[in-house]
Amino acid sequence: NVTISHYDPDVWNYIEKEKIRQENHITLIASENYASDYVMKIQGSQLTNKYAEGYPNKRYYGGCEYIDPIEQIAIDRAKKIFHADYANVQPHSGSQANFAVYSALLKPGDLILGMNLSHGGHLTHGAAVNFSGKLYRSMTYGIDETTGDINYIQLQDIALKYKPKMIIGGFSSFSGICNWKKMKTIADSIQAYLMIDIAHVAGLIAAGLYPNPIEYADVVTTTTHKTLSGPRGGLILSKNKDNDFYKKLDSSVFPGSQGGPLMHVIAAKAIAFKEVLDPKFILYQKQILKNANIMVKTFLKNGFKVISGKTNNHLFVLNLKDKNITGKQAEFILDLSNITVNKNNIPNDVQNPFITSGIRIGTPAITRRGFKEEEAVHVSNWIIDIINNFNNTQIIYSIKKKVLSLCAEYPIYLNKY
Ligand code: PLP
Repeated sequence: NVTISHYDPDVWNYIEKEKIRQENHITLIASENYASDYVMKIQGSQLTNKYAEGYPNKRYYGGCEYIDPIEQIAIDRAKKIFHADYANVQPHSGSQANFAVYSALLKPGDLILGMNLSHGGHLTHGAAVNFSGKLYRSMTYGIDETTGDINYIQLQDIALKYKPKMIIGGFSSFSGICNWKKMKTIADSIQAYLMIDIAHVAGLIAAGLYPNPIEYADVVTTTTHKTLSGPRGGLILSKNKDNDFYKKLDSSVFPGSQGGPLMHVIAAKAIAFKEVLDPKFILYQKQILKNANIMVKTFLKNGFKVISGKTNNHLFVLNLKDKNITGKQAEFILDLSNITVNKNNIPNDVQNPFITSGIRIGTPAITRRGFKEEEAVHVSNWIIDIINNFNNTQIIYSIKKKVLSLCAEYPIYLNKY
């Protein structure tokens, strides 16, 4: 783009560098993905100029005749994908979606019960440093270390004893399958709301490869940019409720917590949802699972510890406690070989969140650029070699060469799925 590069090289040069960084690095950050060319292009459209406070056919601004059908298409496609009766496509992010749901259904000071951050929960599920832990009182449940599964007994015990107003399911770094029905039973037994945040597994759910919580939860929230592969954004879904309930959710987004919707992003969500409805999307999500599964097997075979001992989704967390390296150091050293991961706390971690004892690995991005099992095994072996020899710069730089050549073989924007 000649014009922008001349007009503002200060910013443009960094964008160019970031583009090259993405091409030349193997991204294993479980929450990242590559949006399609269409999705990126639409976000640069004229829709960014338009104010459209309100909802389709109920706007506070004129000139919305072309905006309304776009938002309606996004809503209809979201409902179809997730078998929902209600969708709100306006949340600017996953955190905004969660904020809107809490403020629709709770009062400040109410008790919420979500998954512990270091066991795989998200900041917005009640962490002390987040609005969710400041506006609301919060308690947490975690993983049963012997089974690697969610500790439903602990969840139930806390629920029965303390009677939270809302139970929150969903996670950012748990590699198992959640029993949504069990969570619903527990929530019902204390008349609590059940909110399920599917941000991480939304793509797998859309493809029918992970249980859909829509039948069980009062509300489901998600981001649109992780396994779902759309633009950065949030989405709220619900089913089998009355119109008053849906209205409460709507008004909690606008005017409750947001102003004008980002129509260029909503249009991009609509396009991403069309891509999700394409049968190719199922092949993509299946490959994500295969790649994650073979990576876990490779790590286990080589004496690495995986939290929960397996993965049934797109991610897993390596426990590095017995490797003499922290998560922070592993993240740094892998980056020297152009492999991007994020440090991650493990259950009952003795290290703080800036250091950690683990790294999280996810396969949505590598799969999107075309890696299959063979490449996933190579990547795993490179990570194993680097971590086992973290003082050996020769190994680190020889692997970097291999990473660069694999990345060149699989350019990101060839729309493989
Ligand atoms: N919920 C979960 C489970 C997440 O993993 C994330 C992001 O990582 C969010 C919500 C927040 O999404 P956002 O970064 O769009 O606010």
